[in-house]
Amino acid sequence: MSLIRHFINGEEFGTPQRTGPVYDPATGKHQHDVIYGTTADVEAAIAAARAAFPAWRATTLTKRSHIYFRLRQLLAERSDELAALVTSEHGKVLSDAAGEVARGLENVEYASSLINLLKGEFSQQVSHGIDVHNVKEPVGVVGCITPFNFPVMVPLWMITSAIACGNTVVLKPSEKDPSATVLLAKIFMEAGVPAGVLNVVHGDKTAVNAILDSPGVDAISFVGSTPIARAIYQRASASGKRVQALGGAKNHMIVLPDADMDAAADAAVSAAYGSAGERCMAVSVLVAVAGSAQPLVDAIRTRIPKLKIGSGTTADSQMGPLITREHRDKVASYVKNAPAEGAKVVVDGSTQRFDSDGFFIGVTLLDNVKTDMKVYTDEIFGPVLAVVRVDTFEEALKLINENPYGNGAALFTRDGGAARQFEFEVQAGMVGINVPIPTPIGAFSFGGWKNSLFGDAHIYGPESINFYTRSKVITSRWPDPSESQIDLGFPRNY
Ligand code: NAD
Repeated sequence: MSLIRHFINGEEFGTPQRTGPVYDPATGKHQHDVIYGTTADVEAAIAAARAAFPAWRATTLTKRSHIYFRLRQLLAERSDELAALVTSEHGKVLSDAAGEVARGLENVEYASSLINLLKGEFSQQVSHGIDVHNVKEPVGVVGCITPFNFPVMVPLWMITSAIACGNTVVLKPSEKDPSATVLLAKIFMEAGVPAGVLNVVHGDKTAVNAILDSPGVDAISFVGSTPIARAIYQRASASGKRVQALGGAKNHMIVLPDADMDAAADAAVSAAYGSAGERCMAVSVLVAVAGSAQPLVDAIRTRIPKLKIGSGTTADSQMGPLITREHRDKVASYVKNAPAEGAKVVVDGSTQRFDSDGFFIGVTLLDNVKTDMKVYTDEIFGPVLAVVRVDTFEEALKLINENPYGNGAALFTRDGGAARQFEFEVQAGMVGINVPIPTPIGAFSFGGWKNSLFGDAHIYGPESINFYTRSKVITSRWPDPSESQIDLGFPRNY
């Protein structure tokens, strides 16, 4: 069994004082161990990042940009290798894994134009002989802490902009599927990013807390569940760092009776069950307005048996296993308890049997779900779709706005007026009109509202350039040549 080690200052590093298991979720096999970083390991990574900072910060923007063009090329060339690694430790099907690499590439493409993104402003002659300009300088060392569900894409959300802006990084990936980040760090180096600029430390909360508390770290980017995001935000900001902490979600998709029902049912199936529901932008609540409810439930029910569930490496699989056995059992327990809460189980995926020891579960469709049920209030993070029936569009909108999460929200309709009202009134950070998963492209920033984000900066895109830089404003005074008393030794009217 191989040991996954940290990657610090360009080298694999670490002795296994504590380790954790990394499984192949499709077989249930314990395939690797990963070192859990000690405080000393984290300090070594921070020291490497601090030592690399002055030279990287001084590296010209042109050189950084050239490195990023090469990085883009290398990541594209090795996307199959990255995707295979994601599938082997996360379990998602290969096409999904390739999709996350492709979405991460958008962030590299965006950051490659760093010469443009880091431009300052200049105001000339604000007073006699006085000019003012500002520059964007890197903040220093950035700590990045990422979740299990996108082991390539979410690290790329953070590290591409942070490093492009001249910062150095200590990245703590999820301990459940850590290998892809080590490969990412090696590819960054192969592209020309110097040793020490991107360091990876594995582990659990011991490693995370050492990053949060260290005076050698200046900013924290976190993505994960809401309780941890809240705690990270509080602890890191208490030690004086700037923090963005993206949390969990409960995303609603409203369907009005005038919508194209086939398109809405297809969208609901792929958005609820894709990647086994382990996406922060997955649709987990379908809000069926008036006459749309029964046709939708019927259309989804007929589509479910056609979904191919199996190993992510099998060519025709559309959905893989869940991340761990414990998580699979937790998801199943929500389905088991749903009838006692009053929900109608239209399709029960929790009892489906698979010819494998992997962490598989079938997909579930629940109807007549009410807002006080656990299947509505909790982020289940599995292939469970809850249908809530309401009479009016206003009632549907109120449901979203009263929900404590505010990541994504979608509306399916043919009515432009309703769509415009939805866009104007809905309280969520990312909104889809006839688009079930409105994850912004790389040139816009990603982030939710309410309990889906602690801090004020969204991630990647334009907001990341602000987050990873500090503005410095310079006011300079040079006397008008006509007023100057200094003898230059040559005539001023040259
Ligand atoms: P998680 O919160 O359990 O873990 C996230 C990271 O925090 C991991 O690196 C983990 O090692 C670390 N961590 C866990 N417990 C900790 C503790 N007590 N103290 C310090 N660090 C700790 O999340 P997960 O299960 O890996 O990922 C799934 C969650 O992430 C879901 O809630 C999902 O909605 C959310 N997510 C959100 C977004 C978004 O953009 N808002 C994107 C992806 C995932």
